[in-house]
Amino acid sequence: MKTPIAVAAGDGIGPEIMRATLHVLNAAGAQLEIHDVEIGEKMYLKGFATGMDPKMWDTIRNTKAFLKAPITTPQGGGFKSLNVTVRTTLGLYANVRPCVSYFPFVETKHPEMDVVIVRENEEDLYAGIEYRQSPDVCCSLKLISRPGCEKIVRYAFEYARHHKRKKVTCFTKDNIMKFSDGLFHKVFDEIAQEYPDILNEHWIVDIGAAKLADTPEVFDVVVMPNLYGDILSDVAAQIAGSVGLAGSANIGDRGAMFEAIHGSAPRRAGQNVANPSGLMLAAIQMMVHIGQPDVAERFHNAWLRTLEEGIHTYDIFKEGVSKKKVGTSEFGEAIIKNLGKKPEQLNPVVYEKATAPKIVHRHAPSSANRHLVGLDVYLYHSGPLSDFISNISHINVGPLRLQAVYNRGVKLWPQGQPETFCIEQWRCRFTSGDNMAQVSQNDVIQVLHAFDHVKMDVTKSEFLYTFDGKPAFS
Ligand code: NAD
Repeated sequence: MKTPIAVAAGDGIGPEIMRATLHVLNAAGAQLEIHDVEIGEKMYLKGFATGMDPKMWDTIRNTKAFLKAPITTPQGGGFKSLNVTVRTTLGLYANVRPCVSYFPFVETKHPEMDVVIVRENEEDLYAGIEYRQSPDVCCSLKLISRPGCEKIVRYAFEYARHHKRKKVTCFTKDNIMKFSDGLFHKVFDEIAQEYPDILNEHWIVDIGAAKLADTPEVFDVVVMPNLYGDILSDVAAQIAGSVGLAGSANIGDRGAMFEAIHGSAPRRAGQNVANPSGLMLAAIQMMVHIGQPDVAERFHNAWLRTLEEGIHTYDIFKEGVSKKKVGTSEFGEAIIKNLGKKPEQLNPVVYEKATAPKIVHRHAPSSANRHLVGLDVYLYHSGPLSDFISNISHINVGPLRLQAVYNRGVKLWPQGQPETFCIEQWRCRFTSGDNMAQVSQNDVIQVLHAFDHVKMDVTKSEFLYTFDGKPAFS
C-alpha cells in the first residue's frame, strides 16, 4: 500500500536536495505515491501572494504529508510567507526540530547535545496582525491563547513520553509579559501535572537561551512560544554542528509538513554542492509519521554510517576528520550503499512500530466573572502632552474618568518626569478609579465620541476588563 504524499521541489538548491532525498527514500523501500506541488518564487511572480496556486490546497489536503524543499521569497513587498500560510491554514501547530551532535564526525563544541525544540507554530507575533498606527509608529500583536498553549504543551509532553525522553523545559518571558507568556507558563505548569513520569522545569527565555548555547546537554525537550522557538531552534541547530543538518516537522491533527530548516541558498544552486541532510532528516521524520518506521530506521542509520565514514559535503567537510568531499548526488549514492548498515560509533536509531504520538486534545476553558471597567484610547499627536491634556482631562462619562496618560508604557500624567522620551503615540486610560466599577459598552463609546468632539486623532482603543475582580490589563 503506497502512502500519498505531496512533494514540492522548491527553489535554489531545493530541486537538487529533493532529488537526492527521494532517490534514497526509494532505495530504502519507501512506499510513496508522489503528488507534485508547484510552489515558491515562480508562483509568487505569477501573482499568487502566498507563493502557491490556491488549487494546490486540495492536493496537500488529500495526502498524508507534505515534503517541502526550501523556497525563495522574492525581494520586495506584498509577498506573504508561504510557510506561515501553510502552517496556519492547515493548523500545523507543532514545529519539532531535533538538534543532535554528530561528534567527532561533525565539529561542535557540544558533543553530548541531543535537544528537541518544540516550537508553537500558529500564534504569538506570527499571527501576522500588524498595524502602522501613525506615520512613525508600527505595532505587532502578540497573541497567545489557552487552546494554543494547551495543544503545544500537551504535544511536547506526549512527544517526550513517546520518545522516552526524561524532561520537558518551558522557555517564556513571563516576568515581563505577564499575561501572554504568563498564560503559556501557567498552562505548562497545569499540563505538566498530568505527566508525573516526566521532569518539568521553566526558564526565563534570556537566561535559558544562554544556558542552551553554553550547556545544551542539560536540556532534553524544550517547548516555547513561536518567536523564541524560531530563533532558538536555529541557534540550537547551529551549535549542534550546522543548520544544514537539521530537519523539522510541522505537525497538525489533519496534516503535516516536513522540511529542512535552512533556506534555498540561491548562491549554491545548480552546482551539486548543497548538503541534502536537513531535508533527508525531515523525510525520515515523515516516514515515522506516516507509519513506515522501518524505512525511516534504515535511511537514518545509513545516513549516520555515511557521516561516520567521513563522506561529507563542503559545509561540514574538515581536513583531518572528513575523508572525502562529495556533492549532493554522490552523498545520496553513498547513503544508498550503506542501506542495511548501522553506525559503529554514533548511536544507531530505533523507530518502533508505533508511529507518531497520538494526541488527544483537551481544552479546559477558563471561567471567570468578566466585567468591562474602562478603556485605553490611543492618540496620534506629535507635540507635547501639554498641547492636548486640557482637551481631554475633563472627559467624564458615567463613572469613567481619565486616570493616566502614558507614552510607550511610561506614565506622563499625572506626575510624569521631564526626561522621558516621547513618541507621537499617547495612551489615555479611563476607568472609575480604584473601585473598578463596571461600565457599559455605551459608556466607553461615549468616551470615544468625546475625543471626536474635541478633534483628537484616535488611532485605536482597547477595552479594559476585570476577571473575578482582578484587573486583566497591565
Ligand atoms: P539560507 O539558509 O538559504 O542560506 C544561508 C547560507 O547557508 C547559504 O549561503 C549557504 O552557504 C548555507 N547553506 C544553507 N543551506 C545549505 C545546505 N543545505 N548545504 C550547504 N550550505 C547551505 O538562508 P538565506 O540566504 O537567508 O535565504 C535564502 C532564501 O531562502 C531567501 O529567499 C529566504 O526567504 C529563503 N528561505 C526559505 C526557507 C524555507 O523555505 N523554509 C527558510 C529560510 C529562508
